[in-house]
Amino acid sequence: MKAGGHMPKKRPNIPESVKRQIRQRCGFGCVICGLPLYEYEHIVEWASVKRHDPNEMTLLCPTHHAEKTRGLLPVAEVNSANQDPFNYRSGRPEAFPLRYSGDSCLVSMGGGTWRQDFTQDATVPLLVIRGCSVIEVKRQDERLLLSLRIYSKQVKLLLQIAENELTFSASSWDVELVGRKLTIRGGVRDILAQIEFRTPDEIVITRGVFAFGGSQIRVEPDHIFLQEYNIRMEGYSARTNGGSALRFD
Ligand SMILES: [Zn+2]
Repeated sequence: MKAGGHMPKKRPNIPESVKRQIRQRCGFGCVICGLPLYEYEHIVEWASVKRHDPNEMTLLCPTHHAEKTRGLLPVAEVNSANQDPFNYRSGRPEAFPLRYSGDSCLVSMGGGTWRQDFTQDATVPLLVIRGCSVIEVKRQDERLLLSLRIYSKQVKLLLQIAENELTFSASSWDVELVGRKLTIRGGVRDILAQIEFRTPDEIVITRGVFAFGGSQIRVEPDHIFLQEYNIRMEGYSARTNGGSALRFD
């Protein structure tokens, strides 16, 4: 029997509620640059503090985390960014580039799917409400450039993709990018929008609202609902290589 030794204290996982408090305080992105790809970082290292106190932690992207770990990014600078995070300071979160490409794209939402094939460079409106395209895909030089806007039911803009540049509102209750899935919440168990970016060619929208000119299309996990026409659509599928797949005028 070995005597006198003691087991090193295992670092527990950060509780989800603590992670959320940190995200909310930091504006859902790296406090230095705003990128929504980040790690939960102890400002003073875990080895010294040995606790997950949300007030002693911050969000740093992989680059800024590595800079801090190497001592290239001074702790004082992390502290001041933590007091005044980029996404709140700039008033607009940093755009995150989505990498869609190829000759075909698949949009899945509300349990239905449609595929758009491209034979040449073109801009195709995939979903049109009252003459305005709310989902648009453009093929240009082997790239697929996706554009859409997702709102809450109260018509507050939650997120925008403009030719693959993703931005979201830092005034939402919670925004979280886990793996390829972005979730925006209005409260506990209240998912306002959920999208998975299955690059290079697929986008999956599980929840959210498309709005234009007083009209709304609500996406739920198993159907889409057209408020104005009181139509519920489920299990549809379409494949097109010209024109728009869904049009509501
Ligand atoms: Zn950063």
